[in-house]
Amino acid sequence: MLRVVVLGAAAGGGVPQWNCGCEVCRKARDEHPELRSTQASIAVSADGEHWFLVNASPDLRQQLIATKQLHPKSGALRHSPIAGVILTNGEIDAVAGLLSMREGSPFAIYAHEKVLAILRDNSIFNVLSEKNVKRVAIAVDRAFEPALPDGKPSGLEILPFTVAGKGAWYLEGKAHPGGGGAGDTLGLRIRDKASDRYFYFIAACADVTDELKSRLSGAPLLFFDGTVWRDDELVVAGLGNKTGKGMGHISMSGSAGAIESLAGLDIDRKIFLHINNSNPALLKGSAERRIAESAGWQIGADGTEIVL
Ligand SMILES: [Zn+2]
Repeated sequence: MLRVVVLGAAAGGGVPQWNCGCEVCRKARDEHPELRSTQASIAVSADGEHWFLVNASPDLRQQLIATKQLHPKSGALRHSPIAGVILTNGEIDAVAGLLSMREGSPFAIYAHEKVLAILRDNSIFNVLSEKNVKRVAIAVDRAFEPALPDGKPSGLEILPFTVAGKGAWYLEGKAHPGGGGAGDTLGLRIRDKASDRYFYFIAACADVTDELKSRLSGAPLLFFDGTVWRDDELVVAGLGNKTGKGMGHISMSGSAGAIESLAGLDIDRKIFLHINNSNPALLKGSAERRIAESAGWQIGADGTEIVL
């Protein structure tokens, strides 16, 4: 059996974002606390006992408090069910949560060599000593089975693959082994080896190619990049000067958007994740929400549990 918990469904900044006065953020602060959402991450387990995080968001501490599956087992003075963290990119909202996992429990970090280079280059991550926290390089198109802290197999098979995207924005224009080129943005296929059930996790994707369509066709479950509704929404709302594409994110709407591009692929369940607070599909009753839902999409929400 494959168990998945959505720890956070929001893009960088979360909902509400600390310095944002947009409609969604205002409502989330005041009369609609149900709009609140932490930054994107999921937890996955094959046995219900040992869990792997996909990305460690800056909201990790809050997410762990809210998720009983990730609490220390009763009676143990020091324990965590978290066996490892798989990183799909080097952005702040994917790696900053690692700093909240520094109190000496053993786990492993699985990441592309480029992301490992970013961690190596930032000495603050040395707080996770290599003795307790192994860093394991993963490679594109090479499936791996993450191990439990005692070395036993986890029962999960994870296949990383490249999707169209961008390097970490804070490395833009800088020469760094962690910036530019293939491997910046990974999608994952996560499979339970015993039951053969699987799903896809793609929290950042700039373009749905034919290759990606054929990969995702017939999947039981897909988490997909839902950052923006339309490419220029941050610019139009006066919230910033970057387009979705400019940040490496496809829009939900439009003829080249995610809803249209991923239609008709016989995917059982489609959930948007990494949703920016500017995205009107977050608002229940909005026209955008209705369009997404009538196309078979679910707007991701913190705490959603799925058993496959
Ligand atoms: Zn906002």
